[in-house]
Parts: sequence; structure tokens; C-alpha cells
Amino acid sequence: MLLSNLIRNQDTVNSKYSERYSRQILFYPIGEDGQKNLQKGRVAVIGCGGLGSNITNCLARAGVGFIRIIDKDIVELSNLQRQLLFDEKDAEKKLPKAFTAKSKLNLVNSDVAIEAIVDEVNTNNIGMFLQGIDLVLDGTDNFETRFLINEECVKNKIPWIYGSVAASYGMVCSIVPESGYCLKCIFKDLPADFIGANSGNVGILGSAVSAIASIQTTEALKILTGNISAITKGLIILDIWDLSLEIIEIEKDDGYKCPVCN
Ligand SMILES: [Zn+2]
Repeated sequence: MLLSNLIRNQDTVNSKYSERYSRQILFYPIGEDGQKNLQKGRVAVIGCGGLGSNITNCLARAGVGFIRIIDKDIVELSNLQRQLLFDEKDAEKKLPKAFTAKSKLNLVNSDVAIEAIVDEVNTNNIGMFLQGIDLVLDGTDNFETRFLINEECVKNKIPWIYGSVAASYGMVCSIVPESGYCLKCIFKDLPADFIGANSGNVGILGSAVSAIASIQTTEALKILTGNISAITKGLIILDIWDLSLEIIEIEKDDGYKCPVCN
């Protein structure tokens, strides 16, 4: 009797699981095995503003088993136009983004373990934040932190997905140990004005943020489900206003000895 109860309960659990992810499992590059791999996945999302809140929302819904969210900021009214996890009450109460994201995502998918850290990522703590992590997603808004993520991930052979967006324009690049290039190889001599473009000085479209975050999330799903050959090679550049998309091949300059990945 007890055993039969247990079996029935287990069936309920399994059928709930199957129902929740049924549409994703039907997508053949993911399937049942890919879904199990997602459940085992341990991801860090650094920065939980526009990109980070879109990314964590998609990853939690997709059933990624563990998500560590690191962000030092509080929710402000100017964030609500594009940062999908937050609302007016969060901004009024000036709540920390990481904790707020965790509580919202717990309601979306209680199977996912979410860890929220309210802190600024720096050279002293990044190693600790990436402990036990399989994949890092860039939700930051500055190249200083991105170069730090790049160094730490390349050093520890952790795949990471760079993403940035300003105005209607954004870029994504998957940097995996097999890539043969890193963020430093791509942006070694980036002009200062380009590095400095952000939502505060050139504005930003919520639709551009969602589009770039969607590309990052899709790349993450490929990596986490073991669809390695499907990972996009090169630098993806999207302008949502002009609706232009290009993928720039990364050609390593023989004269450049990358201080990070060489
Ligand atoms: Zn490099």
C-alpha cells in the first residue's frame, strides 16, 4: 500500500516534470537527455539588470538546476522599462536586485536553486563567486568587469557568454575553451568612447536588451545541453532598430600575443 502510494506520488512528480518542460523536450536538439543536463547545470549570472533579469528569467523557466545571481545594485524606477523581473514596489522599497530576482524566480520555478549575492565583483572575490560553476553569463554593463570575468574563466577553463547592449545595438560572443580566442583577443584596442557607451548616456531599448539576452540564453542552452557544435563561432552583432544581424569571424592576428589566452 505504502509502496503503491510512493509509486503514484513519483508518477505525479515525473508527470509534472514532463508537463513543465514538455515543449522544450520536444525540441529535438534538447530532448530528454538535454533536459536532464539542464537540471544538472550550475550557472553564474554576473549583473542582474536588463540582460541579467532576462537571462535568469529564461534559464529558470528552462529548468537550469542552479543559478547564482551576483549584483550590487538596488531597483530604481528607470530600470523598469527593460528589467523584466522588477516592479514599482521593488523600486519604491529600493530592494537589492539580486534578492528581488531570487524571490521572483522562486515563484516561477521552485525546482531551481537560486543563490543571490549582493556584492560587486572584483579581483579578490571573482574566484569565490565562480566556485562550482559550469558556465558564466555576462549581465554586466562595463568592460572592466567583463575583462575580469574573461581572465578568470579562461584561466579556469569555464565557458562564458559575453553580452553587451546600448541604444538599439548589442553584441554576444560565446567564449569556450575550444574557441581559440577570448574577449581580450577581440577587444584589445577598444576605443574609450565605445567602452563608455551605456544606457545612461546613449539610452537603451528594452527590446534590444531582450533580443541580446535571448541570444545569450540560447548559446547557454547549447552549452549546457552538450550541443557544442551548435555554439555560434565569432562575434554576433545585432541592431534591433535597423534589424541587421552579422556574425564577425574572429581572426587571430599573428602579431598579437594575447596576455590572457595565449
Ligand atoms: Zn585571448
